[in-house]
Amino acid sequence: MPLYETLQQSAQRLGFVGFGAAAAGALGPEMERRLGEYISEGRNADMDYMARNVEKRLDVTLLVEGARTVFAFLAPYDHHDNPVIASYAHGLDYHKVIKDRIHAFVEENRASLEAAANGDFAYRAFTDSAPIMEREWAVRCGLGFIGCNTFLISPTAGLRTLIGVMVCNVPFEEVDCMRLRRDKAAVPADCGRCGACINACPTGALSEPYTIDARKCISFLTIESRTPERGNDASHGHLWGCDCCLDACPWNTDTPGWPEFSCNRERLAADPEEIFSIFARNRK
Ligand code: SF4
Ligand code: SF4
Repeated sequence: MPLYETLQQSAQRLGFVGFGAAAAGALGPEMERRLGEYISEGRNADMDYMARNVEKRLDVTLLVEGARTVFAFLAPYDHHDNPVIASYAHGLDYHKVIKDRIHAFVEENRASLEAAANGDFAYRAFTDSAPIMEREWAVRCGLGFIGCNTFLISPTAGLRTLIGVMVCNVPFEEVDCMRLRRDKAAVPADCGRCGACINACPTGALSEPYTIDARKCISFLTIESRTPERGNDASHGHLWGCDCCLDACPWNTDTPGWPEFSCNRERLAADPEEIFSIFARNRK
């Protein structure tokens, strides 16, 4: 069986609802232009880290020495009917959960990966934890496309997924195969632009397709900002994140989420402020 298919089956067994691969390398001038505009127009608000390590962000081979292949994984989470806390935040910290699962993936496939890397296999796993464009890599690996709301949309698993990335020194030629090319060719070019996400955004942060102004975005204001706005008018009462532009999208599915991402559901339903003891202390 080709290496890609062996790895894909392993990723499915481990619960990932998307898996793909792409050759490591520079993301190219179009991505450089878009990132440059995002920063120069100030849409990154006080996320100063977006303006640092730009070269590495645009070329994963500068971030990981010897990088030859990028694998991307999708971890699903459930929808929760909580108006003030984003659905993804109803369980354990996804950074650790997903990285642990990628490490398990490597252990399950170590012999094949070592053979493909001539006995010198090396890798790093990332989940929203380094200057790497996870969504762009997920698209390049064939997991989906970017919707007007800027979420990754998987044609099979929808929008409620978190992305994990593994960068390794396995030559991409060892992974590339007809099945991978066929998987990538089956992904639609875009979402269809129904406009529901733009209409659903309560602040105007998403005022045109593919363009979010973090300075107005509730997700930024409640989670990433150095001076958070929570439970007030600026955040429209939200405490942690915002799913309005996500929930509005017709590409959503009923794909079951991992239990780890829902284990605090009842606790948060009883007292939403518990989010700060469960999650916020890890970030601030
Ligand atoms: S997360 Fe909320 S505030 Fe931010 S763009 Fe989406 S709908 Fe608008
Ligand atoms: S809500 Fe409509 S416009 Fe927005 S991402 Fe989904 S399909 Fe695209």
